Amino acid sequence: MRRKLIAANWKMNGSRTANAAWLASFDGSRAPCDVVVCAPFVYLPQVLAGLRAAEAGAQNLSAEAPGAHTGEVAGEMLLDLGVRWVIVGHSERRMLYGESSQVVAAKAARALALGLRPIVCVGETLAEREAGRTLEVIGAQLEAVLARCAPAQLLAGALAYEPVWAIGTGRTASPVQAQEVHAAIRAQVAHADAAAASQLRLLYGGSMKPANAAELLAQPDVDGGLIGGASLQAAEFAAICGAAG
Ligand code: PEP
Repeated sequence: MRRKLIAANWKMNGSRTANAAWLASFDGSRAPCDVVVCAPFVYLPQVLAGLRAAEAGAQNLSAEAPGAHTGEVAGEMLLDLGVRWVIVGHSERRMLYGESSQVVAAKAARALALGLRPIVCVGETLAEREAGRTLEVIGAQLEAVLARCAPAQLLAGALAYEPVWAIGTGRTASPVQAQEVHAAIRAQVAHADAAAASQLRLLYGGSMKPANAAELLAQPDVDGGLIGGASLQAAEFAAICGAAG
């Protein structure tokens, strides 16, 4: 049985005041699942100090060791703060900042090598879905990760299926669409290691909200969610966590 995992992705949002209100309102001990809150780097100390019964995550890390990489943040620094989780390969990183599948795989491998738990994101664009290329695109993204990271290692973290056309758009993959892709991802991982694949948590992300969370999370291969917009309000995020029972 895979315990569900609900992760918040605050993206580039927040302020010390807004974060304090969020942290005062959210109590992970009421959630029937594991909870991770991925905040902008600068707010991670505040989130680490204020979270109750939940873990903090970053939204990115460098693929490189500490050194001459101005503006980057090394995994060692996240660990130094006490951060245990990190999102890797979010579609905004891939599309807006040019992260290739090879870079994403290198970041996932680096996170795992350091003992960080990566939430590795894959997903297709609307054009790719409409061209019938969804499973091919996701298969290639996943293949790059599996070339660098053994499935048994990935168990420390999770994979997230995030259709790009559903992120921040209000458009959600139907439960059937999500399940189809999740099953394909699990089958591909199983090809490398069936035992690990059966334990690996696969999160869905893309306009998940209280109104649609329960039916998405009821799918047999949907083991949690990565929540963007709806995670900015603590009450909405708590309601989604509540649907993961
Ligand atoms: C995300 O940022 O990972 C995400 C899924 O965003 P949203 O929930 O806003 O679609």
